[in-house]
Amino acid sequence: MPLHSIMVVDDNVDMLTVYGRVLTAEGFEVFTAATGSECLKQIETVCPDIFLLDVMLPDWNGIDLVREIKGRTECANSFIVLLSGLMTDSDCKVRGLDAGALDYLARPIPNKELVAKVKSLVKVMEFQESLVNISKKFEALSITDGLTGIANRRCFDEVIAQEHSRHARSEGKLSLIMLDIDLFKSFNDHYGHVCGDDCLRRIAKVIDESTARPGDLVARYGGEEFACILPETDQRGALLIAEKIRQAILDLAIPHAWSNIAECVSASLGVVTSHCGSDSSVTEIVHRADELLYKAKSLGRNRVECNELMHTPEQIHTHLVQLVWKDSFSSRNDLIDSQHQLLFHDTNELLEAIILARPKDELNSIVNRLLSDAAQHFNDEECVLGEIGFPGSAKHAAEHARLLVDGRKLARKFTADALNVGDIFQFMVHELVMQHMLGADRDFFPYTCTAPQRGDT
Ligand code: GH3
Ligand code: MG
Ligand code: MG
Repeated sequence: MPLHSIMVVDDNVDMLTVYGRVLTAEGFEVFTAATGSECLKQIETVCPDIFLLDVMLPDWNGIDLVREIKGRTECANSFIVLLSGLMTDSDCKVRGLDAGALDYLARPIPNKELVAKVKSLVKVMEFQESLVNISKKFEALSITDGLTGIANRRCFDEVIAQEHSRHARSEGKLSLIMLDIDLFKSFNDHYGHVCGDDCLRRIAKVIDESTARPGDLVARYGGEEFACILPETDQRGALLIAEKIRQAILDLAIPHAWSNIAECVSASLGVVTSHCGSDSSVTEIVHRADELLYKAKSLGRNRVECNELMHTPEQIHTHLVQLVWKDSFSSRNDLIDSQHQLLFHDTNELLEAIILARPKDELNSIVNRLLSDAAQHFNDEECVLGEIGFPGSAKHAAEHARLLVDGRKLARKFTADALNVGDIFQFMVHELVMQHMLGADRDFFPYTCTAPQRGDT
């Protein structure tokens, strides 16, 4: 039996000594106090499990003392038993119990009876503790998916509703990723449900590992569908995570010989970013993410599709001149397409910052990010073009190098106040996006549209 602690409060010092000795011999940790104020002083530092309280103390009425002890947060769950020879009238008993005492013992109290009473209270206490633990476990189980161990649909519904109202107040951006495993029915049909379940567990794990912030929630939405709630995350951040998840699932390399998408299991993802204003309810956000997910399916699966940002009143003015991604811009290479979409997003962010006259530091950081995303993209695109044997690779790479040199030169001038914001925007939008991404890049589309992708059969 774990050691329980008891405080005896009695102005009869002989009784204190006897109770102390008897209860200590039974293995309890015993504290004693001869007055109410002494008891209150002691409970500032210790919180006994059980109080045995004389109802008549020199400085306190026992019933008032019960209320005072119960009012202390740390002792709110302690058990209190009143001790008195005078408590024969039932009105007094009722007042004691109403104040928060659990029971009373009428004096004289034989030692055996005292010990038996305390032991029965300890049993009740232990029973209560186990009930609390069971209900905590039950609560955890009720929001956990039994197969994968991540959050379940019920938890998802609760968290997205909470986050939606929190973001509506903070005006921050909430992102949602919906994911569905590609051709999972045929996976189950051919490899069996045990393998299917194992695949679901492994995919749940990599999705969970791909999201890093404490507020992020990964949930199993339904059969082979998963969802990630990403609080305070803009579209750029959400796209990066979605792409990371898509790649991590391919990297698991779970063989799927009956897929015509890739040699191994893949997934399609829809990404929505919202300001959670009155024009976007939870249902609309989930519905939109679902639509984008099915758009990803219809465009060939194993890809990420995202929305245009839902607009705040401020953004409505800029909305008409933002760059909007169209299916006809697709090279049919997932890596190139997702990076092109990221550059669209960066450019839109720059446009919005210019129109809303954001501080120079903010503009500088967007310009630098755009250039570093472009550098990464050029590098990856050159690798893809090399792999698929695009004949114009060398010329294309030389054009990339020129764009980066020019872009970096303009960014330096802009930082040094030697260039106005319109010129830097002209370069980013016209040269980098319009002429290069939507112009020169089209030369290799016939090659990327027919070439197999990484992980394909
Ligand atoms: P798509 O690419 O269009 O999503 O095709 P799909 O075959 O994945 O989609 P469909 O909705 O037709 O099939 C989903 C399959 O997922 C049906 C079922 O075999 C499997 N599935 C759903 N839940 C579970 C589960 O808990 N365990 C296992 N092993 N399989 C599941
Ligand atoms: Mg499905
Ligand atoms: Mg599926």
